[in-house]
Amino acid sequence: MSKVILKKGREESLLRFHPWVFSGAIAQIVGNPAEGDVVSVWAGDGSLLGCGHYQIGSIAVRMLSFGQEHLSDAFWAESIAAAFQARKAFGLVDNASTNCYRLVHGEGDGLPGLIVDYYDGVCVMQAHSVGMFRAKKQIAEALRIVYGQSLKAVYDKSSGTAPFKAGLDLVDGYLYKAEGFAGSESTVLENGHKFLVNWNEGQKTGFFLDQRENRASVQRYAAGRNVLNLFCYTGGFSVYALAGGAKHVDSVDSSARAMAMVDRNVALNGFTEHTSYCADAIEFLGKCEDGKYDLMIVDPPAFAKHRGVLKNALRAYQRLNAAAISKVAPGGIIFTFSCSQVVDKEAFALAVFSAAASVGRRVRIMDRLCQPADHAVSIYHPEGEYLKGLVLYVE
Ligand code: SAH
Repeated sequence: MSKVILKKGREESLLRFHPWVFSGAIAQIVGNPAEGDVVSVWAGDGSLLGCGHYQIGSIAVRMLSFGQEHLSDAFWAESIAAAFQARKAFGLVDNASTNCYRLVHGEGDGLPGLIVDYYDGVCVMQAHSVGMFRAKKQIAEALRIVYGQSLKAVYDKSSGTAPFKAGLDLVDGYLYKAEGFAGSESTVLENGHKFLVNWNEGQKTGFFLDQRENRASVQRYAAGRNVLNLFCYTGGFSVYALAGGAKHVDSVDSSARAMAMVDRNVALNGFTEHTSYCADAIEFLGKCEDGKYDLMIVDPPAFAKHRGVLKNALRAYQRLNAAAISKVAPGGIIFTFSCSQVVDKEAFALAVFSAAASVGRRVRIMDRLCQPADHAVSIYHPEGEYLKGLVLYVE
């Protein structure tokens, strides 16, 4: 096994369980590791720090174990079991009204580079690192151990997330199927609402589980309101708003496939007061008449995927929010979000503040929102916090 030896003093963050070794912190690599190999990591003074997945890039090692030179045979089953126990503590396991959740959230669960979402017995995994991609069989096996007979399937959907430069054979498909399991779609329950999830064709793993609690919050404010759900994807917020007694909901997304799913999800829950628009959300908002809506949800895709585009992203958030604040009816409510990891909550709040100031209306912050507990954040890796939202009341 290859050894990665750090420069003197560069072990500090690892001693505090931060899971990344940056290439600039490395003094020497002993051996010739391939991408995705497990390597041991040593401080400059010769003491062992742990082991992790090696990869070429600015993050050279993603730590899997602190204090051990090798991964034990039980590593994968123990790590997945620990993530499962945490979901149990969050109240998401054997929950009569919610049977979908994020089981593994990368660094937040001590498994950097791995995402696993659970949809009523079907686990959908996405590897973001070469090491996790190469470990997918062990991961599927560990899921079988943890869920036992109740596991229906494990689907690998890493083709869009694993580093393509590494020359991996990136073809999505099932790593496990229980006897009799068929189909690439399932109806799951979230807070008692039904949603179709298609892990095969949908975005990410098929559903945005990170908005579960924020959707419940929309439900509480929706009674009697005329709602606009921008960037609606498969209509999560729309269904909750209708369940909360909204007068009518208009949903907008540029993806035709997503809009077809919105119609099915609205019908599945027995609602009718809904209209779908397959359109550019920003243009739609620009053209909509002032005061038509008194509840808006603005949940765009990440405008900044890396630091280099931060300034432009902040301007885009400001413009979008200014349009929403100027159009919402007096006494209206806006749920506005950013899922860009590089835009922290202060920067986002500043962009929304600038938006309000440019419009000149009185705006109160009613609530501050974030990602739910199953999108775990390690206290040693605050970079894992990515979803933030504000609930605004506009006079
Ligand atoms: N609110 C959703 C998740 C939104 S993800 C939920 O609760 O499930 C972001 C969505 O924005 C994606 O569905 C994507 O198709 C859509 N999108 C991206 N750019 C867009 C644009 N310019 N106009 C409308 N929709 C857009």
